[in-house]
Amino acid sequence: MNGALFLLTVNFLIAQLFCVFFLVISRRSRIPAAGRWFAAAFAVASLSAIFEVVIRYADFDRLASFGAFSSVLSALLMIRVGLGRLYAVPSNVMVMTGFLGASLTLNLMIYDLPRGTFYHSLGYQLPFAIAELICAAAIYQSGRRETADRILIGLLLLTAANFVSKIYFSVKFSGGSTAQSYLSSVYALVSQSLSAVLVVSTGLTLLAVIVVEIMDDAKANSEIDPLSGLFNRRGFNERVKQVLARPMSAYPHCVVLCDLDHFKAVNDTYGHAAGDQVIMSLGRMLREHAPPEAICARFGGEEFAVFLPSTGETTGYLFAQGLRNSFSALAFEGLPDAVRLTASFGVCALDAAGDPIVDAINGADAALYDAKKSGRNRVNRTGRAAAANLEEWQAQA
Ligand code: GH3
Ligand code: MG
Ligand code: MG
Repeated sequence: MNGALFLLTVNFLIAQLFCVFFLVISRRSRIPAAGRWFAAAFAVASLSAIFEVVIRYADFDRLASFGAFSSVLSALLMIRVGLGRLYAVPSNVMVMTGFLGASLTLNLMIYDLPRGTFYHSLGYQLPFAIAELICAAAIYQSGRRETADRILIGLLLLTAANFVSKIYFSVKFSGGSTAQSYLSSVYALVSQSLSAVLVVSTGLTLLAVIVVEIMDDAKANSEIDPLSGLFNRRGFNERVKQVLARPMSAYPHCVVLCDLDHFKAVNDTYGHAAGDQVIMSLGRMLREHAPPEAICARFGGEEFAVFLPSTGETTGYLFAQGLRNSFSALAFEGLPDAVRLTASFGVCALDAAGDPIVDAINGADAALYDAKKSGRNRVNRTGRAAAANLEEWQAQA
């Protein structure tokens, strides 16, 4: 096997490997179509290596050269379609088909032009450069600017520049013993190596974008309770940790715990599915009523928590009273219209910045327990200021 054949075999295998990687990884992705388009693109691109071998060793030059060109260009446009799915920037089928048709026609037209001339080179390389620019533009248009997105735009632009530079250099190195002088030139070595590095880097970055998306999704899913749509305890702890790591605020933070009253009876009377509806409704209500910076969670079963950053216990108490009121007026899907439910609440503020959150949760839990004991459908606070006073104050308000 000579050097050129070896290089083409390696190219073919690398493209096939990328195809397999994308197929495997797309199965885990939220947008499997994107990975599948990339897999198809690399499969089609790998055909160009076969066509190149045919050009060198067989006699149907025209067909093989057209095949090599069209496989690479189609692969680039498939990448554009995949990017469209991944970045939610749909590709315009009419424009893409028109561009592909025009480029293929142009390629057939320039075949008889002498190689190494400016027009042949331009007709051959320009469609590739344009396709790369179209891909870069799609990511730019999406507005996403994560590190991987920026790297991808950079790589696509570099590849476009590489195609444009080939127009100039293939003319410069033509003349005389054309193919030989080109192949033995330092430029050819640099250009071919650069192309290979760019293709592999672009493939790896595309893989990275999909992997990051899968990891972000997995992390988000592991922190969200699917029934209520709120954070689970892990998500709650993670978000609270981020707030507590911020510089101290003027107010302490406050924790509100909530537990549905006699919820077992709801399940027993109306069925588990109806009970689920109640949990979903409370989840929705918390999302709608809580301030934007609040962290709402379902701790499990029918117990919920709201962390109110920079909120004193009195404000937390009033907030919980508001929730209690709204909840007791709520009607639920799957339950008779007239049925109303109640919930009990415990409120506790962090004593001082730096206090562990678990202290506030335990305090709120103790207050909640008292609320249950003293009749349910009420809000209890840990009582750094006497709850009775506040209720009196409220009654007067
Ligand atoms: P209390 O007023 O003292 O809180 O009484 P309770 O009946 O609400 O409390 P208890 O702890 O006795 O029962 C809680 C019930 O919540 C038991 C369980 O079947 C139900 N539950 C827990 N998780 C779910 C869920 O995801 N869906 C449904 N439908 N029910 C759940
Ligand atoms: Mg309960
Ligand atoms: Mg409970």
